[in-house]
Amino acid sequence: MNMNGRRGLGRFDHEKEEMIDLLTRRGIVDEGLLGAMRRVDRHEFVQDAFVNRSYEDSALPIGCAQTISQPYTVAFMTQALGLRTGARVLEIGTGSGYQAAILAELGARVFTIERHMQLLMAARERFEKYSYNIASKCGDGTLGWSEFAPYDGIIVTAGAPEPPRALVDQLAEGGTLVIPIGGMDIQDLHIITRTGGAIRTAQATGFKFVPLIGKSGWK
Ligand code: SAM
Repeated sequence: MNMNGRRGLGRFDHEKEEMIDLLTRRGIVDEGLLGAMRRVDRHEFVQDAFVNRSYEDSALPIGCAQTISQPYTVAFMTQALGLRTGARVLEIGTGSGYQAAILAELGARVFTIERHMQLLMAARERFEKYSYNIASKCGDGTLGWSEFAPYDGIIVTAGAPEPPRALVDQLAEGGTLVIPIGGMDIQDLHIITRTGGAIRTAQATGFKFVPLIGKSGWK
């Protein structure tokens, strides 16, 4: 059954299965995550002009010069968060709402921040249409959302010059921050964990994100 509650063959089911195969071949093995990516219809999160390309493993334009991230990147970052059901997750960069929907499908309590009101409004319509209970606000996500901190996971879906201090501070003990760090064009994914008060960082190379613009991001 997909997001629309339909059973049986949908228009994009074949393309979606090809996307899942590709994710599996690229090392995404978590069945829960693959199930969530099967259930969420990416074609509902892209602009009409790109709907036929919804299940390609590529980023696609969503307006305001921003993109919906490529499916492999969404899967890799989500897997890196290592979530348990009921985890509290803050996402910076709501964009289309696709990543937030995947997190909600995994049973997380999701909070998401977007700096473009136009994108946030469109994402909120999708959350409502598919009955996702996701808290969202328009603002500078580099400052985090202290009201609901601490978070078990924080996922930043835009590239930063360095990890914003506020986000590290808003991580719960045992929590994980996943954030692309680097230059404007290419970044490495930093997986930052807080254990026993200490901060540990692992890295994966070669990702490409739009810039994180804000007080603790790019100007
Ligand atoms: N997660 C999104 C999705 O599933 O469609 C993709 C996000 S897109 C790659 C990155 C988003 O981060 C853009 O929508 C951009 O406007 C937003 N962004 C950039 N800097 C931000 C900031 N400081 N606070 C909140 N959002 C920001």
